[in-house]
Amino acid sequence: MSARRIAAEVAAGNRRATEVVEASLAEISTHDGELHAFTEVHAEAAREAARGIDAAVAEGRDVGPLAGVPIGVKDNICQRGRVTSCASKILDGWRPPYDATVVRSLEAAGAIIIGTTNMDEFAMGSSTENSAYGPTKNPVDHSKVPGGSSGGSAAAVGAGMVPLSLGSDTGGSIRQPAAFCGVVGVKPTYGLVSRYGLVAFASSLDQVGPFAQSVEDAALLLEVIAGHDPLDSTSLDVPAPMLVDRLDDGVGGLRVGLCRDLIEGASPEITAAVTASAELLAAAGAEIVEMSIPELHYGLSAYYLIAPAEASSNLARYDGVRYGLRVDAANVAEMNAASRTAGFGDEVKRRIMLGTYALSAGYYDAYYAQAQRTRTLIINAFADAYRSVDLILGATTPTTAFGLGAKVSDPMEMYLSDVFTIPTNLAGHPAISVPAGSDAAGLPIGVQLLGPALSEERLLRAAAVIEKGRS
Ligand code: GLN
Repeated sequence: MSARRIAAEVAAGNRRATEVVEASLAEISTHDGELHAFTEVHAEAAREAARGIDAAVAEGRDVGPLAGVPIGVKDNICQRGRVTSCASKILDGWRPPYDATVVRSLEAAGAIIIGTTNMDEFAMGSSTENSAYGPTKNPVDHSKVPGGSSGGSAAAVGAGMVPLSLGSDTGGSIRQPAAFCGVVGVKPTYGLVSRYGLVAFASSLDQVGPFAQSVEDAALLLEVIAGHDPLDSTSLDVPAPMLVDRLDDGVGGLRVGLCRDLIEGASPEITAAVTASAELLAAAGAEIVEMSIPELHYGLSAYYLIAPAEASSNLARYDGVRYGLRVDAANVAEMNAASRTAGFGDEVKRRIMLGTYALSAGYYDAYYAQAQRTRTLIINAFADAYRSVDLILGATTPTTAFGLGAKVSDPMEMYLSDVFTIPTNLAGHPAISVPAGSDAAGLPIGVQLLGPALSEERLLRAAAVIEKGRS
């Protein structure tokens, strides 16, 4: 059932939050032994929160727009007193002393955090196979990956264990798993959603965003988590967007660019899904124009210098002194090295080395500075494009979900699965992945809509047209 309907019924007293929570817990116990979308289920706390919501309804108090709605929260978003480990051994057992702002927003809206969701270690990956807890499986086909890094959040919603979840997207980690699991995923404009309490991976790229089974529910959750936060210095001081009420306004008069560079290299079935989505938008009154932004081809290379560079700096804090794992040794330097050697997985170590190298004296200009210039090129190319179109349409991923284990030994192949999602992060723009059918094997296909900064309302309206056209 939709989050919006659950919340409306709970608020009206027609359905008890406690029943909603029990139903979600039952789904989790049926499916999660196999899928492993959750790293921890907070059953007792969820039941208690649900009782609180039901009591508030009985007293006639306002219970908020997500009253009684169970939600999963990615393991890199701080929940006070609960293990928040980024699926890394280095933070094993770390319990933050504070809540992320988005967690507080969820609770203020009446949502019930039912569990913490699995992810690639420190959000580095595209398959959730880099988790210290072991991988999550794709709910549609258990031999496939759910995507990543927010694979647990996507699988939890895809399997119907929860109607909503939160993920984070640095280079595609919401949209790519959303596409693989057949759900909606939104990467908001940089700064629209607070990152206070989101464990940093690449600070100039990271954003928190929603997963949902429908565009409407994604809009509802985004409204709840968006808004200015003085605790996050990158938070935009703009009013929280009104999204749900505008969802049915359609796309009449909008110019949508069908972007060749975000389709080339995609499988024929995915390409066909993008074309079909363009036709749906056209039938609803949008003008479709074919376009190309060749600069987007540099996105992946720039990202794999900038993101590791920022990560190498952000992850320097895990030194065995203040957080998580400590491996004792003869002196401090050896203790630091031994703790980091034991605590970080292979992909995280690879990124730290890549990033440290790109930032080192003598190489900084050739790698890091060059990547930043390339990033500017991409930002300018998008700005040019948005002078002639209102939105851009393309594929979310080149392929549908791949097999578990298929790409673990080939990092470059793994990186390539984000080739269509990364450019948006470099520009700080919003984008959405919306389900658009499935391939011959029955695996979900996602199409991607991109827009300029703060165009969430327009993006979601267009996504709603695609969603409706297919149903
Ligand atoms: N898969 C990309 C990476 O490994 C993106 C990850 C993300 O968005 N967190 O860096």
